Amino acid sequence: MVLPQFDMCINNAWLLHRRDGKKTSLKDFRFELFDGLSKSNRIGTNQNVTDDIGENLKIHKPVSVRPTDSVRFDNTGHLPEAAEYVASKEGGTLIKLNDFTYNLSSQNGPKSKWQCSTHAAHGCHAVLYTFNNVIVGLKDLHNHAAPT
Ligand SMILES: [Zn+2]
Repeated sequence: MVLPQFDMCINNAWLLHRRDGKKTSLKDFRFELFDGLSKSNRIGTNQNVTDDIGENLKIHKPVSVRPTDSVRFDNTGHLPEAAEYVASKEGGTLIKLNDFTYNLSSQNGPKSKWQCSTHAAHGCHAVLYTFNNVIVGLKDLHNHAAPT
């Protein structure tokens, strides 16, 4: 079992190891570390592997976890977007987001699907999804420029 706390120590040790100009991958480093620790019987003890590293060299603030690649490249804007409800010419409700408008196309309880209101008929597949009036999904892959 690898405790998360211990896991971070390994990463810290690895980063220091890299700083020394050594180019071991983290995975190999872990194997080497495990090997070394099993030989010296340090595995299983509560001894901190970074105990002998100066306090000023330790990394105290780990960088925050990055989104996975599948999230980063899913063509979905994850930044807060300014959206608003606007009335359509026909008196219906549209959602306006980044100069594009979306028509309610289907509804299932609190879930709604909205399609590009200007070009859905021209093959635009841009859609957005709301849950209780909050945008929870957006595929803004319009095949046209924003209507003016
Ligand atoms: Zn569109």
